[in-house]
Amino acid sequence: MTVLAGLTELLSDWSTDPVELAQAATDRSGSPDTGIPALLVRARDVAEVQAVARFASAHGVPLVTRGAGSGLAGGAVAGTGTIVLDLSRLDRIIEIRPVDQVAVVEAGVITADVDAAAAAHGLFYAPDPGSVAISTIGGNIATNAGGLRGAKYGVTRDAVLALDVVLADGRLVHLGAGTLKHVAGYDLLGLVVGSEGTLGIVVGATLRLLPRPAATGTVAAYFGSLEDAADAAVAVRSCGARPSVLEIVDGLTLAAIDELSGTDLRQRGEAFLLVQVDGLDVTAELAAVEQAVAGATHVESTLDAVTSERLLAARRLALPAIEARGRALIEDIAVPPARLTDAIRGVQDVAAATGTTIHVFAHAGDGNVHPVIVVDADPGAELPAAAVEAADRIFALALELGGTVTGEHGVGLLKQRWVARQVGPDVDDLQRAVKRLFDPAGVLNPGKAI
Ligand SMILES: Cc1cc2nc3c(=O)[nH]c(=O)nc-3n(C[C@H](O)[C@H](O)[C@H](O)COP(=O)(O)OP(=O)(O)OC[C@H]3O[C@@H](n4cnc5c(N)ncnc54)[C@H](O)[C@@H]3O)c2cc1C
Repeated sequence: MTVLAGLTELLSDWSTDPVELAQAATDRSGSPDTGIPALLVRARDVAEVQAVARFASAHGVPLVTRGAGSGLAGGAVAGTGTIVLDLSRLDRIIEIRPVDQVAVVEAGVITADVDAAAAAHGLFYAPDPGSVAISTIGGNIATNAGGLRGAKYGVTRDAVLALDVVLADGRLVHLGAGTLKHVAGYDLLGLVVGSEGTLGIVVGATLRLLPRPAATGTVAAYFGSLEDAADAAVAVRSCGARPSVLEIVDGLTLAAIDELSGTDLRQRGEAFLLVQVDGLDVTAELAAVEQAVAGATHVESTLDAVTSERLLAARRLALPAIEARGRALIEDIAVPPARLTDAIRGVQDVAAATGTTIHVFAHAGDGNVHPVIVVDADPGAELPAAAVEAADRIFALALELGGTVTGEHGVGLLKQRWVARQVGPDVDDLQRAVKRLFDPAGVLNPGKAI
């Protein structure tokens, strides 16, 4: 603490309370503890963020930036001796510019709050991770978060026009532009998005908004097998409609949702495909989707907003419902959409070969599959060998199918070994050179992302 005293005298809100430090050292990934941080800073303004970065670089102290700690890859896990920089109090929506259709916000704003502010102007913020009600814009940017509406609207990167970033040495830079297009210089903004707090600290963002869809139509289709649902998802992608949501949930997960919320989804089929279309006139798109899911055992189709929201809410419960069943290892592979059925079949084979319980839900519209291995082990305890083997086989499967070991949750601590294998030695060298350029002292979230 003696060295850190030189920092704390510059700050308005910090803590060395062991309970608060322990809480600030974890995320939702279930990553093993890596120790207790030395200091928790709750930044009140950009100047405090700059002071912390400058101090960390000058003294070689590791610095882990934190939004809401809802990450699923161990990105915000902070070890012994680190400074945790909590940005959740930088939570101002600075302005909504309705004509430009942009929002200018601080990094700690909760994602759903941006969307709510946009709604007042007939606009919406499209990226909607399942954690939309708790995660921060800064965390979404640092992980390049995806979401349910990704099938039509893409991921966080597609919505970020400009960023204010505090560099490791404390300088504040503005990347990108407040315009809808811009090609002046290298795309450093694209480099920072998804960099998991290893290249800089995002303190502000200019975000793209879109006209709020006038109407929404939803189809919930139940199938006799998960593979049939995956085949139908591929058919929906080429039926002429452009779904905003295209999600699959397996029978195991439907049963878990039923257990949590008292519904009876599992009785209707072995797998659930949820499709949503939106726009000015959704009737024709809905009809095309209904045709594409004609092989379903049970179909519910609605233009009613309340029923649509109920169906979507069931899908949003997938992860909490699985977590209620035991310790959940949430994997996040993505494959080319044409290989979706192969990926799902492959995950089922992995479960059978390793004797593990693996739930599956997927953002089928962009080929992003979440196999969730449920293990009978306390949080923090060593994982059973079969679960580790299942995870390894799932990552190998993703690469075999021409995919990636993480579609949206990031590398964090958990996928380190696999990311180097995916990108190969030359790209790995390039990434490390970029890291050295941005962060010569190696203090920004060391050991993460690459
Ligand atoms: C129920 C549930 C559902 C989820 N659904 C989805 C989903 O659909 N799609 C999806 O992609 N993810 C999902 N997630 C994962 C998680 O919510 C996202 O990764 C989210 O983007 C993390 O935001 P956060 O504010 O909690 O960041 P944190 O967990 O606090 O941090 C995540 C990473 O970002 C870095 N970081 C945070 N803020 C900043 C900043 N301002 N500047 C620089 N680096 C920063 C951290 O160091 C860390 O590496 C879900 C999680 C839960 C619990």
